[in-house]
Amino acid sequence: MADSSDTGTADERAPTPRPLWTVVDGSVRLLSTRCLRCGTVAFPPQRYGCPSCGADGDALVESLIPAAGTLHTFTTVHLDPKHETPFQVGEVATSADPLVRCRLRIDRPRIGQQLLARIRVGDDGETLEFVAVEEEADRDAADAPEIAGTEEAVDG
Ligand SMILES: [Zn+2]
Repeated sequence: MADSSDTGTADERAPTPRPLWTVVDGSVRLLSTRCLRCGTVAFPPQRYGCPSCGADGDALVESLIPAAGTLHTFTTVHLDPKHETPFQVGEVATSADPLVRCRLRIDRPRIGQQLLARIRVGDDGETLEFVAVEEEADRDAADAPEIAGTEEAVDG
C-alpha cells in the first residue's frame, strides 16, 4: 500500500477508498472483518462495531475470505447513468457466511449456482464481478489449444 503523504496531489482529493479485495496465490480474497466475541464475519469490513452482537470495533480483526459461493438472489438493472444496460447484480452467499452484493457476468444466472469472483479492469478502474464456475472452466478449456478443436456445439 502506498502512503498517501508521498504524493503532492493526494491531499487535494477525496481519500481513495481502500480496495475491498486482494489476490492471494491467484485467487481473489475479500477483505472482511471477524468479530472476536461472536465470530461473525462482515463484508464489507466494519470499523465501529460488530453488526451482529454489537461488540466494540476493538473486537474486530481483519480477515481475508474466499470470493466464491452460491448465488442467493439477483436482479436485472435496466437504467444506470454510468454503465451500459441491462446488467445483473446478485447477492452471493460466500462460504465464509457474508452475503456479497456484486455485479454478475453470467449468461443465464440460476439461484444456487456456484460462482467465483474475478477482477475486471475497465475504463473506471478495477471492479469485482462474479462469474459462474462452469463458465469460467469452459472458457479456460476453450483457451487450451489441445482441446479447443474437440467441441461439438458452439452457441451463438
Ligand atoms: Zn460480534
